[in-house]
Amino acid sequence: MKKIMLGNEAIARGAYEAGATVASSYPGTPSTEITENIAKYDEIYSEWSPNEKVSLEVVIGAAIAGARSITAMKHVGLNVAADPLFTVSYSGVNAGLVLAVADDPGMHSSQNEQDSRHYARSAKLPMLEPSDSQECKDFIKEAFEISENFDTPIIVRSSTRISHSCSIVELGEREEVELKDYKKDFEKYVMMPAMGRKRHPIIEKRMEDLKEFANKTELNKIYWGNKKIGVISSGIAYQYAREAFGNEISYLKLGMVYPLADDLIREFANEVDTLYVVEELEPFFENYIKAMGIEVIGKEKLPIVGELNAQIIRENMLDQKLNFDSPIKDHTPIRPPVMCPGCPHRGAFHILNKLGLVVTGDIGCYTLGAIPPTEAMDTCVCMGASVSMAHGMDKARGKEFAKKTIGVLGDSTFIHSGITGLIDIVYNKGISTIMILDNSITGMTGHQDNPTTGYTIKGEETVQVDLVKLSHAIGINRVVVADPFDLEEFERVVSEEVAAEEPSVIISQRPCALLDTADYSGIVEIDRDVCDYCQQCTSLGCPAIVDKDDHIEINEALCNGCTLCFEKCDFGIMTKAGEDNA
Ligand code: SF4
Ligand code: SF4
Repeated sequence: MKKIMLGNEAIARGAYEAGATVASSYPGTPSTEITENIAKYDEIYSEWSPNEKVSLEVVIGAAIAGARSITAMKHVGLNVAADPLFTVSYSGVNAGLVLAVADDPGMHSSQNEQDSRHYARSAKLPMLEPSDSQECKDFIKEAFEISENFDTPIIVRSSTRISHSCSIVELGEREEVELKDYKKDFEKYVMMPAMGRKRHPIIEKRMEDLKEFANKTELNKIYWGNKKIGVISSGIAYQYAREAFGNEISYLKLGMVYPLADDLIREFANEVDTLYVVEELEPFFENYIKAMGIEVIGKEKLPIVGELNAQIIRENMLDQKLNFDSPIKDHTPIRPPVMCPGCPHRGAFHILNKLGLVVTGDIGCYTLGAIPPTEAMDTCVCMGASVSMAHGMDKARGKEFAKKTIGVLGDSTFIHSGITGLIDIVYNKGISTIMILDNSITGMTGHQDNPTTGYTIKGEETVQVDLVKLSHAIGINRVVVADPFDLEEFERVVSEEVAAEEPSVIISQRPCALLDTADYSGIVEIDRDVCDYCQQCTSLGCPAIVDKDDHIEINEALCNGCTLCFEKCDFGIMTKAGEDNA
């Protein structure tokens, strides 16, 4: 049976058909749908874990115990998982262990555009890269085979365009794979220095064997056309290259992007007059091929920054100046990112801005607090950094500066990697105030549950982490829960906590506007006759409040009736539609 599938859905299907039985991940765009789709297969135990390091450790345990296991993460998540990654490379696996990692060239929803291929090389792990949904499924199945045959974890790399594009997939049957026997083997699985030293040469030999495999595997394919031009490429870049250069020329499409197939590359290069390398982000193939003494044209023609497309390749490599007028480009209005109407973070950032605090921020929807009109965020580096950076500022500039500083992060992010920073503050006698924006969900990636929501990936009820008790347990004495839509009280709480000469935690609690529990209804109306056009309400930055330059209107299509704007109108002229403002 054939089905149109999202790349991420196909990766999940590949895990299902390969007989995987354990999956553990932390959500991160563009990889999130992989695990969401895996969770639909009852044959695979699936979970959201607190962060990618934990996810990887869970599947390492499962694989060593004998179950085919998979974790999915975005490229920056791989940084978090890097610690166990480099060592599980040494210990190897028992049953197959696959990491599906999605890069984000162009930074559609990421803080950098690192190239995960470097991880494969530095951790000495094989990496595959599919170029459509069919390959997403097929390569995952192949990855489990390689993992078991070579006793290695394996990375399957996708990118936003592969993960989030749809193409036809031929579905197969699930292979029921027996649990492998578990054998205690401390020389293999206990990576103390003495054992690690013995494992290193084994890993080097494994890489040699994998290189031999790369030269033979059908994952790498040569498509011979005319031999005037040859292109070496992989993944989505291969699709762009094919569109740009057409079907007449020759291609070496690399499905195994590490280790690279030396013999195959040399064979291909020897046959073509001019050799191009088309790859997004880093000159990973290019540098390798040049080091082999082969002349190639690559990054001197193509950008190292952002996504490629056929037009960029044509213009830069084929010198075809195209006047491609996209009607979409002409007519699509620019829509800057903005917090949703009714977003609970709006009230919190409004107050932080009003108080003029230095805000060390974090990764989540609330990163939008950095842009106008709130502009209430000074830094954003990675998940959990808000907490540790506030502490760093405290230690660098002293208590008075700390009393004007606050670290802000979400509930899921706090669980991901904020907890350790908070422990650091307490342990090292800092006085920072940390605000946990608890909107009862992992918002940015599309509403995944986390340990603070009380539900599992399957929607089953589970133990809910109590952020108040947890903060107390860490050693924080001052823990306050506040409603960010009660602006006056919220301001009082924030002012009091940042002024305190001890660490404190403010839990800004109100559900995400898109959750049923937000329980908003109706739209807001303004009595135009009484409106003073003081524009106080516009300072909230709610997209439903429209400044028409001489009067204020509420966009009925956007307003969800959260009533935060009531708090800003001193004239009391805002009402819910159909209600009196008496
Ligand atoms: S206009 Fe007012 S009630 Fe409507 S969404 Fe915006 S802040 Fe909430
Ligand atoms: S705050 Fe009230 S009076 Fe001022 S512009 Fe908004 S609706 Fe009009």
